[in-house]
Amino acid sequence: MNYDFNDKEFNLFVEIHTRISEFANGKDLESYDTKNSEKNTRLALALLSETPYLKLGIEKIEDYNGLLTLMGAMEVIAGISPSLFLSVETSTRIFGRILSTWGSDFQKEKLLPALLGGKIIGAVGLSEDAMNVDNDPLKTTATADGDQVKISGRKQYVINAPLADWIAVAGQMDGKNAVFLVEKGSPGLTIGEKTATLGYEGVAICSISLANCVIASNQVIFPKNDKAMLNTLKLWENQILIGASLGLMKKAFESAKNYSKKHKTGGKPIIAYQEVGFKLSQMLTLFQTSQLFAYRAAWTADADPKEVESLTLCAKVFCTESAEQVAGDAMKILGGAGFLSGNPVEEAYRYAKYGQIAGTSTEISRVKIGDAALGMNK
Ligand SMILES: Cc1cc2nc3c(=O)[nH]c(=O)nc-3n(C[C@H](O)[C@H](O)[C@H](O)COP(=O)(O)OP(=O)(O)OC[C@H]3O[C@@H](n4cnc5c(N)ncnc54)[C@H](O)[C@@H]3O)c2cc1C
Repeated sequence: MNYDFNDKEFNLFVEIHTRISEFANGKDLESYDTKNSEKNTRLALALLSETPYLKLGIEKIEDYNGLLTLMGAMEVIAGISPSLFLSVETSTRIFGRILSTWGSDFQKEKLLPALLGGKIIGAVGLSEDAMNVDNDPLKTTATADGDQVKISGRKQYVINAPLADWIAVAGQMDGKNAVFLVEKGSPGLTIGEKTATLGYEGVAICSISLANCVIASNQVIFPKNDKAMLNTLKLWENQILIGASLGLMKKAFESAKNYSKKHKTGGKPIIAYQEVGFKLSQMLTLFQTSQLFAYRAAWTADADPKEVESLTLCAKVFCTESAEQVAGDAMKILGGAGFLSGNPVEEAYRYAKYGQIAGTSTEISRVKIGDAALGMNK
């Protein structure tokens, strides 16, 4: 196991940090406005396409260590704008990996260059209306009609749906799990109104409905191992949520550290009170342990795929729960100022909850980790 980053990787992290910080400067990337989300996501994707970032985890790049490099880079972007991060990652690392892993040559040629060139936005509709794909089979179904396919179903929450040029919709066809590549404006596709959420306000999320939605039959993807499809999609989502948690912890820790040195009460900066220092050390311990765990899970994805699912679930439970604790402690250090809307710490506190609910939830993760430990997941 080697989680050391080489000079080229460090340079990439610095480049991404510089570009995205400059881009973020003076903009409200967490604003609720969908038009803003669209403009910012498109501009950021174009900017990132000038670096190797969008290709990480999708194409092999010399001197970069696959998912491990990606995890280090994800932390950088998530630490600047969590909403921008989630939009970019859903498009690139889930929609993009659906194409790169399972897509036909035709589908890859049609969409991957535009996606990795930052020219189009993708979304992924997996979760069905009022059901969890961890428990029930997919309800969205498609039937062949000549050289077309008609899809019917409803997806409750779809990140990027209001902005996406293409949506990868998971469903069933001929009794198998499949993914349907649905272009914006396809007949029978209805995009809902933006859904209000507790956090990640800068991400455009809504439901989508498909009523005999028509696509060409060459826009259907049948993964080689269709039974493993849902687990793989969840794995990719979990990896993103781990990266998001690292970014939230970094942001909350740095804010609390800076505040504790600047803010004075009782004639001295609050860092002089021992309990504040203890809190910061506990936060840093959780952050650094989370980083190590995240790097190990990412490294395992390439080095030991047999272990990746269970290890990623362990890392996700640890990182997402640590993010809530670190953000909560940061808020205590900021005192009343931490509770005011619009500061990075209250934002991290609200956003942290999402990581525990989305992807494989903490509860389902614990069940799966236990099953794997007992060898009951075969
Ligand atoms: C803001 C937001 C954005 C989202 N974006 C997307 C997206 O882009 N694409 C997409 O496909 N989905 C998306 N989702 C859906 C998200 O992945 C699901 O909400 C998540 O998987 C949880 O499913 P659920 O809401 O149906 O909860 P439920 O499954 O109803 O769970 C409710 C509770 O029961 C527990 N539970 C359920 N089953 C079990 C079990 N078997 N064992 C133990 N405990 C269990 C859960 O852990 C939870 O505590 C998004 C959700 C939100 C809130």
